[in-house]
Amino acid sequence: MGTSTDPFVVFSDVQKTYDGEILVVKNLNLTIERGEFLTLLGPSGSGKTTTLMMLAGFEVPTHGRIEIDKVEVNNVAPHKRNIGMVFQNYALFPHMTVEENLAFPLQVRKVPKSEIAAKVERALDMVQMPAMGKRRPAQLSGGQQQRVALARALVFDPKLVLMDEPLGALDKQLREHMQIEIKHIHERLGVTIVYVTHDQSEALTMSDRVAVFNDGIIQQLARPADLYERPENSFVAQFIGENNRLNGKVTSIGNGACTVAIEGQGQVA
Ligand code: ADP
Repeated sequence: MGTSTDPFVVFSDVQKTYDGEILVVKNLNLTIERGEFLTLLGPSGSGKTTTLMMLAGFEVPTHGRIEIDKVEVNNVAPHKRNIGMVFQNYALFPHMTVEENLAFPLQVRKVPKSEIAAKVERALDMVQMPAMGKRRPAQLSGGQQQRVALARALVFDPKLVLMDEPLGALDKQLREHMQIEIKHIHERLGVTIVYVTHDQSEALTMSDRVAVFNDGIIQQLARPADLYERPENSFVAQFIGENNRLNGKVTSIGNGACTVAIEGQGQVA
């Protein structure tokens, strides 16, 4: 990213209460750079999903403003924001084939029929799911369904993709494999990704920067290695420290990702 900035998403003084009660997002100020992979990391209930839902347009801020690509979106409906979305539960249409699931966002956007098949094929290739286009979701494994959900989020070339615990339902091995694939896709497409997880190692290995949430507040916004090496408060130190199912230490940084060395076991990621 260098020193020049190209703000793509800007939250200014954003607050959210549900039912006029407690503030679940408290005065959020956050700028996400164009092309950045930014993760919202924090314990359950800390306000990550609410923040993502406000960006998507499914929740309205109680106060403050959100801009996407220099346009204030507070009054822009979700489907007009042109955002790709992936969630833990896939949310594929069960009665449609894979190809039909992928064609749907293109049809909604009035993409000419003649272009749809090629775009669907390209999206399936991107997630390494060719030759399964005629199947229905129920005929796919969980991992394959999640690939289709990812392809569906990318098929219309969005500039912004939101992911909320997209790998939460997958087993550990598949999850780690998909983390790498998502990173590759991010690098290849240069798309801006905002990713929600409560999993420290996932956040630290995938992201350019991580916003650590607790109690509706960003406790620290930093590159992964800086969270380890320079936690700004005890919450961050403790929460990032909990990562240590790896029980490791960040040893080098490249491309915003970090390498974690497990004592006595060499490097793992
Ligand atoms: P996270 O994604 O970090 O787990 P959420 O943004 O989902 O956190 O939730 C933050 C807080 O807001 C929680 O206390 C949750 O119970 C509350 N909350 C979330 N969605 C709603 C809703 N639709 N109505 C009322 N309270 C909600």
